[in-house]
Amino acid sequence: MITTDELASKIETESPRLILQCPQLGIDTERFVVEGDIGLKSNRVISYAARRIEIAKALQEDPDAERQGLLGIERDGKILRWRRGKQLSYCVWRPSFGTDEEHAAVVEGMAAASSDWEGICGVEFKHVQSKDHDANLTFGDVDFPVLRQAGGGSTIAMAFFPDDLANERLVWVFDGYFNTAPGSFDPVGVMRHELGHVLGFRHEHIRPEAPDLFNPESTEHTLAISEYDPKSVMHYVAPGVGDPKLRFTKLDKMGARSVYGGTDLEFSFAD
Ligand SMILES: [Zn+2]
Repeated sequence: MITTDELASKIETESPRLILQCPQLGIDTERFVVEGDIGLKSNRVISYAARRIEIAKALQEDPDAERQGLLGIERDGKILRWRRGKQLSYCVWRPSFGTDEEHAAVVEGMAAASSDWEGICGVEFKHVQSKDHDANLTFGDVDFPVLRQAGGGSTIAMAFFPDDLANERLVWVFDGYFNTAPGSFDPVGVMRHELGHVLGFRHEHIRPEAPDLFNPESTEHTLAISEYDPKSVMHYVAPGVGDPKLRFTKLDKMGARSVYGGTDLEFSFAD
Protein backbone atom coordinates (compact mmCIF):
# COMPACT_ATOMS: atom_id res chain seq x y z
CA MET A 1 0.00 0.00 0.00
CA ILE A 2 1.08 3.55 -0.75
CA THR A 3 2.83 5.36 2.14
CA THR A 4 1.56 8.53 3.81
CA ASP A 5 4.36 10.62 2.32
CA GLU A 6 3.78 9.23 -1.16
CA LEU A 7 0.07 9.90 -0.93
CA ALA A 8 0.65 13.42 0.43
CA SER A 9 2.99 14.29 -2.41
CA LYS A 10 0.53 12.79 -4.92
CA ILE A 11 -2.17 15.07 -3.50
CA GLU A 12 0.08 18.10 -3.73
CA THR A 13 1.16 17.44 -7.30
CA GLU A 14 -1.99 15.98 -8.87
CA SER A 15 -5.01 17.47 -7.13
CA PRO A 16 -6.91 20.34 -8.65
CA ARG A 17 -6.57 23.58 -6.65
CA LEU A 18 -9.32 25.96 -5.73
CA ILE A 19 -8.97 29.59 -4.76
CA LEU A 20 -11.37 30.76 -2.07
CA GLN A 21 -11.83 34.46 -1.46
CA CYS A 22 -14.17 36.51 0.66
CA PRO A 23 -12.53 39.80 1.73
CA GLN A 24 -15.39 40.63 4.10
CA LEU A 25 -14.71 37.50 6.15
CA GLY A 26 -10.94 37.76 5.69
CA ILE A 27 -10.73 34.66 3.49
CA ASP A 28 -8.06 34.46 0.82
CA THR A 29 -6.81 30.92 0.59
CA GLU A 30 -6.08 28.01 -1.67
CA ARG A 31 -7.17 24.40 -1.23
CA PHE A 32 -6.17 21.09 -2.72
CA VAL A 33 -9.35 19.37 -3.85
CA VAL A 34 -9.54 15.65 -3.09
CA GLU A 35 -12.46 13.25 -3.56
CA GLY A 36 -14.20 15.82 -5.78
CA ASP A 37 -15.32 18.26 -3.12
CA ILE A 38 -13.07 18.09 -0.07
CA GLY A 39 -10.80 21.15 0.21
CA LEU A 40 -7.53 20.63 2.08
CA LYS A 41 -5.30 23.39 3.39
CA SER A 42 -1.63 22.62 2.72
CA ASN A 43 -0.97 22.01 6.42
CA ARG A 44 -3.70 19.35 6.53
CA VAL A 45 -2.44 17.22 3.65
CA ILE A 46 -0.22 14.94 5.74
CA SER A 47 -2.83 14.21 8.41
CA TYR A 48 -5.47 13.68 5.74
CA ALA A 49 -3.22 11.22 3.87
CA ALA A 50 -2.47 9.33 7.08
CA ARG A 51 -6.15 9.09 7.94
CA ARG A 52 -7.12 7.90 4.46
CA ILE A 53 -4.57 5.12 4.65
CA GLU A 54 -5.84 4.13 8.09
CA ILE A 55 -9.41 3.91 6.75
CA ALA A 56 -8.29 1.94 3.72
CA LYS A 57 -6.48 -0.54 5.98
CA ALA A 58 -9.46 -0.86 8.31
CA LEU A 59 -11.81 -1.53 5.39
CA GLN A 60 -9.39 -4.07 4.00
CA GLU A 61 -9.44 -5.95 7.29
CA ASP A 62 -13.22 -5.69 7.69
CA PRO A 63 -14.90 -5.16 4.32
CA ASP A 64 -18.33 -5.34 5.96
CA ALA A 65 -17.65 -2.34 8.18
CA GLU A 66 -19.25 0.11 5.76
CA ARG A 67 -22.42 -1.92 5.31
CA GLN A 68 -24.07 -0.10 8.20
CA GLY A 69 -24.46 2.85 5.87
CA LEU A 70 -22.55 6.13 5.81
CA LEU A 71 -19.01 6.52 6.98
CA GLY A 72 -18.43 8.85 9.90
CA ILE A 73 -15.44 10.77 11.15
CA GLU A 74 -13.70 9.17 14.08
CA ARG A 75 -12.40 11.02 17.07
CA ASP A 76 -11.00 9.26 20.15
CA GLY A 77 -12.34 6.00 18.75
CA LYS A 78 -15.91 7.31 18.53
CA ILE A 79 -18.05 8.79 15.77
CA LEU A 80 -17.99 12.58 15.70
CA ARG A 81 -21.39 14.31 15.65
CA TRP A 82 -23.05 17.58 16.68
CA ARG A 83 -24.46 17.75 20.19
CA ARG A 84 -28.03 16.68 20.84
CA GLY A 85 -30.45 19.54 20.40
CA LYS A 86 -27.92 21.61 18.46
CA GLN A 87 -29.64 23.72 15.85
CA LEU A 88 -27.30 24.38 12.93
CA SER A 89 -27.85 27.95 11.83
CA TYR A 90 -26.80 29.29 8.45
CA CYS A 91 -27.30 32.19 6.09
CA VAL A 92 -26.95 32.41 2.32
CA TRP A 93 -24.89 35.55 2.09
CA ARG A 94 -26.26 37.68 -0.75
CA PRO A 95 -23.23 40.02 -1.15
CA SER A 96 -21.16 37.06 -2.36
CA PHE A 97 -23.66 36.36 -5.16
CA GLY A 98 -23.75 38.15 -8.51
CA THR A 99 -27.49 37.95 -9.01
CA ASP A 100 -30.74 37.63 -7.07
CA GLU A 101 -31.62 34.58 -9.18
CA GLU A 102 -28.55 32.64 -8.11
CA HIS A 103 -29.07 33.65 -4.50
CA ALA A 104 -32.71 32.53 -4.62
CA ALA A 105 -31.71 29.21 -6.18
CA VAL A 106 -29.27 28.47 -3.36
CA VAL A 107 -31.72 29.58 -0.66
CA GLU A 108 -34.21 27.15 -2.17
CA GLY A 109 -31.66 24.33 -2.47
CA MET A 110 -30.54 24.72 1.14
CA ALA A 111 -34.13 24.86 2.43
CA ALA A 112 -35.11 21.67 0.60
CA ALA A 113 -31.92 19.76 1.44
CA SER A 114 -31.94 20.70 5.13
CA SER A 115 -35.56 19.70 5.45
CA ASP A 116 -34.74 16.38 3.77
CA TRP A 117 -32.11 15.66 6.44
CA GLU A 118 -34.53 16.71 9.18
CA GLY A 119 -36.94 14.20 7.71
CA ILE A 120 -34.64 11.20 8.11
CA CYS A 121 -32.78 11.77 11.39
CA GLY A 122 -32.67 13.91 14.51
CA VAL A 123 -30.99 17.06 13.21
CA GLU A 124 -32.20 20.62 12.87
CA PHE A 125 -31.10 23.46 10.59
CA LYS A 126 -32.18 27.09 10.77
CA HIS A 127 -31.92 29.66 7.99
CA VAL A 128 -31.23 33.05 9.62
CA GLN A 129 -32.62 35.19 6.80
CA SER A 130 -31.77 38.50 8.45
CA LYS A 131 -28.09 37.65 7.98
CA ASP A 132 -28.41 37.02 4.22
CA HIS A 133 -28.25 40.75 3.55
CA ASP A 134 -26.05 41.81 6.47
CA ALA A 135 -23.07 43.64 4.98
CA ASN A 136 -21.24 43.29 8.31
CA LEU A 137 -21.55 39.54 8.59
CA THR A 138 -18.85 38.00 10.79
CA PHE A 139 -18.00 34.49 11.91
CA GLY A 140 -20.15 33.55 14.85
CA ASP A 141 -23.31 35.25 13.56
CA VAL A 142 -24.39 31.87 12.23
CA ASP A 143 -22.83 28.42 12.47
CA PHE A 144 -21.99 28.55 8.79
CA PRO A 145 -22.51 31.01 5.94
CA VAL A 146 -23.16 29.73 2.43
CA LEU A 147 -21.01 31.71 0.00
CA ARG A 148 -20.87 31.99 -3.78
CA GLN A 149 -17.38 31.69 -5.26
CA ALA A 150 -16.76 32.15 -8.97
CA GLY A 151 -14.94 29.27 -10.68
CA GLY A 152 -14.64 25.84 -9.12
CA GLY A 153 -13.88 23.74 -12.19
CA SER A 154 -15.57 20.38 -11.77
CA THR A 155 -16.26 21.08 -8.09
CA ILE A 156 -19.88 22.14 -7.74
CA ALA A 157 -19.95 22.91 -4.03
CA MET A 158 -17.76 22.34 -0.99
CA ALA A 159 -18.61 22.09 2.68
CA PHE A 160 -16.80 21.41 5.97
CA PHE A 161 -16.74 18.79 8.69
CA PRO A 162 -17.86 19.27 12.30
CA ASP A 163 -14.24 19.24 13.49
CA ASP A 164 -13.19 22.14 11.26
CA LEU A 165 -12.34 25.42 13.01
CA ALA A 166 -15.18 27.91 13.43
CA ASN A 167 -13.72 30.23 10.78
CA GLU A 168 -13.51 27.36 8.29
CA ARG A 169 -17.15 26.37 8.61
CA LEU A 170 -18.38 27.53 5.25
CA VAL A 171 -20.36 26.05 2.41
CA TRP A 172 -19.11 27.24 -0.96
CA VAL A 173 -21.17 27.20 -4.13
CA PHE A 174 -19.31 27.29 -7.47
CA ASP A 175 -20.32 27.90 -11.09
CA GLY A 176 -21.29 24.27 -11.72
CA TYR A 177 -24.16 24.52 -9.24
CA PHE A 178 -26.11 26.63 -11.73
CA ASN A 179 -25.48 24.34 -14.69
CA THR A 180 -28.87 23.22 -15.97
CA ALA A 181 -27.63 21.17 -18.95
CA PRO A 182 -29.20 17.70 -19.25
CA GLY A 183 -27.41 15.22 -17.04
CA SER A 184 -26.17 17.84 -14.56
CA PHE A 185 -26.58 17.32 -10.87
CA ASP A 186 -29.80 18.08 -9.09
CA PRO A 187 -28.96 21.21 -7.05
CA VAL A 188 -31.00 20.03 -4.07
CA GLY A 189 -29.13 16.72 -4.24
CA VAL A 190 -25.81 18.56 -4.24
CA MET A 191 -26.86 20.38 -1.07
CA ARG A 192 -28.06 17.12 0.52
CA HIS A 193 -24.57 15.76 -0.13
CA GLU A 194 -22.79 18.86 1.24
CA LEU A 195 -24.96 18.90 4.36
CA GLY A 196 -24.00 15.26 4.82
CA HIS A 197 -20.40 16.47 5.25
CA VAL A 198 -21.58 19.22 7.61
CA LEU A 199 -23.20 16.48 9.72
CA GLY A 200 -19.95 14.53 9.76
CA PHE A 201 -20.35 11.98 6.99
CA ARG A 202 -17.44 11.10 4.74
CA HIS A 203 -17.61 9.91 1.18
CA GLU A 204 -19.08 6.50 0.59
CA HIS A 205 -16.57 5.49 -2.05
CA ILE A 206 -13.52 5.32 0.22
CA ARG A 207 -12.08 1.83 -0.24
CA PRO A 208 -8.75 0.02 -0.02
CA GLU A 209 -7.53 1.07 -3.43
CA ALA A 210 -8.81 4.59 -2.73
CA PRO A 211 -5.46 6.35 -3.19
CA ASP A 212 -6.13 5.94 -6.92
CA LEU A 213 -8.98 8.34 -6.45
CA PHE A 214 -6.47 11.11 -6.01
CA ASN A 215 -5.46 10.73 -9.59
CA PRO A 216 -7.95 12.95 -11.38
CA GLU A 217 -7.71 10.69 -14.45
CA SER A 218 -8.82 7.56 -12.67
CA THR A 219 -12.15 8.54 -11.12
CA GLU A 220 -13.85 5.90 -13.31
CA HIS A 221 -12.43 3.53 -10.77
CA THR A 222 -15.26 4.31 -8.40
CA LEU A 223 -17.78 2.85 -10.83
CA ALA A 224 -16.55 -0.67 -10.12
CA ILE A 225 -17.68 -0.50 -6.52
CA SER A 226 -20.35 -3.07 -5.78
CA GLU A 227 -20.19 -3.95 -2.11
CA TYR A 228 -20.44 -0.29 -1.24
CA ASP A 229 -23.56 1.78 -1.65
CA PRO A 230 -22.83 3.40 -5.00
CA LYS A 231 -26.14 5.24 -4.95
CA SER A 232 -25.48 6.79 -1.55
CA VAL A 233 -26.07 10.53 -1.18
CA MET A 234 -22.44 10.57 -0.04
CA HIS A 235 -21.07 8.88 -3.13
CA TYR A 236 -18.59 10.63 -5.37
CA VAL A 237 -19.72 13.91 -6.86
CA ALA A 238 -18.36 14.00 -10.39
CA PRO A 239 -19.98 14.07 -13.78
CA GLY A 240 -21.18 10.61 -14.74
CA VAL A 241 -20.54 8.95 -11.37
CA GLY A 242 -23.16 7.94 -8.82
CA ASP A 243 -26.77 9.10 -8.77
CA PRO A 244 -27.00 12.62 -10.23
CA LYS A 245 -30.05 13.24 -8.08
CA LEU A 246 -28.13 12.36 -4.89
CA ARG A 247 -31.13 10.90 -3.11
CA PHE A 248 -31.04 9.11 0.23
CA THR A 249 -30.76 5.34 0.02
CA LYS A 250 -32.00 2.92 2.64
CA LEU A 251 -28.43 2.58 3.93
CA ASP A 252 -28.04 6.37 4.14
CA LYS A 253 -31.15 6.58 6.28
CA MET A 254 -29.98 3.76 8.53
CA GLY A 255 -26.54 5.34 8.86
CA ALA A 256 -27.95 8.80 9.63
CA ARG A 257 -30.30 7.39 12.27
CA SER A 258 -27.58 5.36 13.89
CA VAL A 259 -25.61 8.57 14.45
CA TYR A 260 -28.34 11.18 15.04
CA GLY A 261 -31.32 9.07 16.10
CA GLY A 262 -34.82 9.25 14.67
CA THR A 263 -36.75 12.43 13.92
CA ASP A 264 -39.18 14.03 16.36
CA LEU A 265 -41.84 13.61 13.69
CA GLU A 266 -41.99 9.90 14.52
CA PHE A 267 -43.06 10.44 18.13
CA SER A 268 -45.78 11.98 20.25
CA PHE A 269 -44.30 13.77 23.21
CA ALA A 270 -45.70 13.83 26.75
CA ASP A 271 -45.54 17.17 28.55
ZN1 LIG B 1 -18.51 15.35 -0.92
